[in-house]
Amino acid sequence: LDFAQAQFLTSAPDLARCPVDEGAEIAFAGRSNAGKSSALNTLTRNHKLARTSKTPGRTQLINFFTFGADSLRLVDLPGYGYARVQKSIKKQWDAELESYLQSRQSLIGLVLLMDIRHPFKEFDRAMLQWAVDAEIPTHILLTKADKLKKGPQKNTLQEARAGLANVDDLVSIQTFSALHKEGLAELEAKLVTWFGP
Ligand code: GDP
Repeated sequence: LDFAQAQFLTSAPDLARCPVDEGAEIAFAGRSNAGKSSALNTLTRNHKLARTSKTPGRTQLINFFTFGADSLRLVDLPGYGYARVQKSIKKQWDAELESYLQSRQSLIGLVLLMDIRHPFKEFDRAMLQWAVDAEIPTHILLTKADKLKKGPQKNTLQEARAGLANVDDLVSIQTFSALHKEGLAELEAKLVTWFGP
């Protein structure tokens, strides 16, 4: 697998208009500003692949990328938790995400990104619960790890791991820094175990 081969495939305005549900896909999700675009760009060695932005939550498109064979996809789910989104829209999006996790046959894994300085917010917990309920293997990235010193990084990781002990057959977790390219090999190894070599 060569993640640097990733190419934009298509955008969908909602989950009903996703590409045909075949092959295998891994979805990336996180609150707005969690560092999802930066992580995807680091993974694909393409600083333009996913848009990084300081005004999060503007585009609500689901973006699909492929690499090598078209049947393997990375899915960039819209950043979540942007305060200015209307409650009704938020509710609808909640329901869509849950149904995507429940019914998308080609979904073989979820990467859930959380800022290491404030992980496990309401949205993160909801996503994790939906994924676990749907038995979707989930890999958590504690992002922007460089914002903490090594000691606090380790402590946060250990605490989080302890809290996930009851779901450790499905859920794994690591620290990640797009800025320092730390945790990249670990992330790639995880994706390869899901996609196959
Ligand atoms: P997204 O909204 O989840 O796609 O988040 P972005 O990737 O656009 O990142 C949000 C902000 O966090 C931007 O200002 C990034 O430069 C910053 N950021 C992302 N990853 C890192 C990281 O690993 N370290 C640091 N220090 N900042 C990061």
